[in-house]
Amino acid sequence: MDYNFTPEQQQFREGFIAWLDKNLPEGGDDTNFRMFESQEEWAKAYKDFQRKLSEAGYASMHYPKEYGGGGRTLMEEVIVLQVLAQRAMFLRGPGVITHGMASPTILTCGNEAQKKAFLPKILDGTHIWCQGFSEPNAGSDVANVSTRAIKDGDHYIVSGQKVWTSFAHMADWCIMLVRTDPNAKKHRGLSYLLLDMTLPGVEVRPIKQMTGESEFNEIYMEDVRVPVDMLVMQEGMGWHIAITTLMFERVVGDALMGAMYQKNIERMLDMAKQVKRSGRPVIEDPLFRQALAQSYIEVEVLRHHGLRNLSHQLAGGVPGPEGSIGKLLWSVPNQKIMERALDMQGMLGQVMPGSPNAVQGGLWQYGFLRSKGNTIEAGSTEIQKNIIGERVLGLPKDGSRAARQ
Ligand SMILES: Cc1cc2nc3c(=O)[nH]c(=O)nc-3n(C[C@H](O)[C@H](O)[C@H](O)COP(=O)(O)OP(=O)(O)OC[C@H]3O[C@@H](n4cnc5c(N)ncnc54)[C@H](O)[C@@H]3O)c2cc1C
Repeated sequence: MDYNFTPEQQQFREGFIAWLDKNLPEGGDDTNFRMFESQEEWAKAYKDFQRKLSEAGYASMHYPKEYGGGGRTLMEEVIVLQVLAQRAMFLRGPGVITHGMASPTILTCGNEAQKKAFLPKILDGTHIWCQGFSEPNAGSDVANVSTRAIKDGDHYIVSGQKVWTSFAHMADWCIMLVRTDPNAKKHRGLSYLLLDMTLPGVEVRPIKQMTGESEFNEIYMEDVRVPVDMLVMQEGMGWHIAITTLMFERVVGDALMGAMYQKNIERMLDMAKQVKRSGRPVIEDPLFRQALAQSYIEVEVLRHHGLRNLSHQLAGGVPGPEGSIGKLLWSVPNQKIMERALDMQGMLGQVMPGSPNAVQGGLWQYGFLRSKGNTIEAGSTEIQKNIIGERVLGLPKDGSRAARQ
């Protein structure tokens, strides 16, 4: 495998970097993660920047032009995303579910009217989307979803509760798993709706996280009337749609995470040169040097895993459950890298963002707290291990689920 970009790809990448140099808002670099005074300001900054990306032709390079995309290749899209991951990751935060889940679902499974109505508004930054899968009694076992959607003429009447819904407080729309057939087998009774968050009966309540921010929420729905046109594919296809789009997006996700963590390693090296322990820079301490090397290795493993999956997809392959390996490779190491970074800072490790004494603006303290969610969000570590065991290695089903099915 040749890791180098072709001359055309290199030229495209340089063109994009030159554009970004001129168009990234001041302080848009993600080291300045507290650049926004409020969540509203963060959402607005995301939307403004996404509009600029779209106007310059850099929004979803591999999507057809008729839906607002660039009409180019997946490789060009990955090039754009990798540069953005290193230069504007925090700025693009509110769009994580929008671009990672909502747009691929609509592109892959939506009908023509849904594609035409929603994709251009996603790509030009008009709409932010959230993902309403988890419920108080449906997390790992998402097939347990009990939010009901009962057909009433040309509407579904939706009632229920979602939880841990990232960016619901900013979202205009939500991709939502609902139960349309309570009598069918668990997975088969689910359907996939596109929910307008401004409809009467939708209430969003933010949940405060240990970082101090409210990135995720509860959504309460009471007799919300959703037009039947907002059903994706047919009733009963909810589970199939959710799994298909998740697998495709893991491939792009791994390539993006690898790029973002590479940047973190650079920051960690800078920090190790600045911060002193026992009178000498951390980078000169043999034990911390090992921690730096270990972090570098872990990021390289993730990066190469991402490249392998990407080349498989570029060669026409269909991603499978091995995507769960990528999830383990970005979540567990990130927690360790954050812990190592705080260890390196010694006493300063306790100084939080906002203090003039915080190392690198408190980036690692924030990252340490946020990283705790990494092994839970997008499917917990235990669930990923079950998937790898059962579907990649062919081991017998785990006892608890086998008994329930
Ligand atoms: C930061 C963050 C953002 C999130 N954003 C969203 C979002 O936008 N939309 C959304 O729908 N959800 C979101 N979630 C929810 C997330 O998908 C769920 O938290 C996750 O799937 C786990 O579900 P749960 O919390 O109900 O835990 P549970 O499923 O109750 O699991 C509790 C523990 O039991 C373990 N466990 C469960 N079943 C098994 C098993 N069969 N074998 C072995 N161990 C098992 C789990 O690994 C876990 O450690 C988010 C979560 C976080 C932390």
